Amino acid sequence: MPAVLEGGCLCGKVRFSASQPPLRTFACHCTFCQRMTGTSFYAESLFPMDAVRFNDGELRQYEHRSDGSHKKVFVHFCPSCGTTMGLTFERWPDVRAISRGCYDDPNAVELTSHIWTRSAQSGVALPADVDCFAMARATLDGRPEVALRHEAPVLARQESGR
Ligand SMILES: [Zn+2]
Ligand SMILES: [Zn+2]
Repeated sequence: MPAVLEGGCLCGKVRFSASQPPLRTFACHCTFCQRMTGTSFYAESLFPMDAVRFNDGELRQYEHRSDGSHKKVFVHFCPSCGTTMGLTFERWPDVRAISRGCYDDPNAVELTSHIWTRSAQSGVALPADVDCFAMARATLDGRPEVALRHEAPVLARQESGR
């Protein structure tokens, strides 16, 4: 199957290819993602687990237990340069997240939603006309949450209903 999306880490030892477009690409403003990336939010694409192939470059993983679901989240990173390549989830074993910043062309995917906006950092703007979720897209027992869409860009901490 031909690769449609390719990428890699900062040092180039870890490379990946995806055989299909992502299921979706979104920004996560949860406090775990802020800490994990050391920055304001984490932009990630979700893929079916078997749609992404890595080269032989060794990936290491760090295991974190989610404050919310108490399930494990695995952070996959390059041991040479420390780049976070993506995540896998005990709670959703059929999908994996790939870091948007690792694509050779990060603009080949479109950011269509923002989640956990209630913990977004001050100064972070949420764009108009994308789905914004105060928390996750679904409750812990799986019920979908309703997205909020802004008519104009808004600063996260001034968003109503946070
Ligand atoms: Zn690397
Ligand atoms: Zn997150």
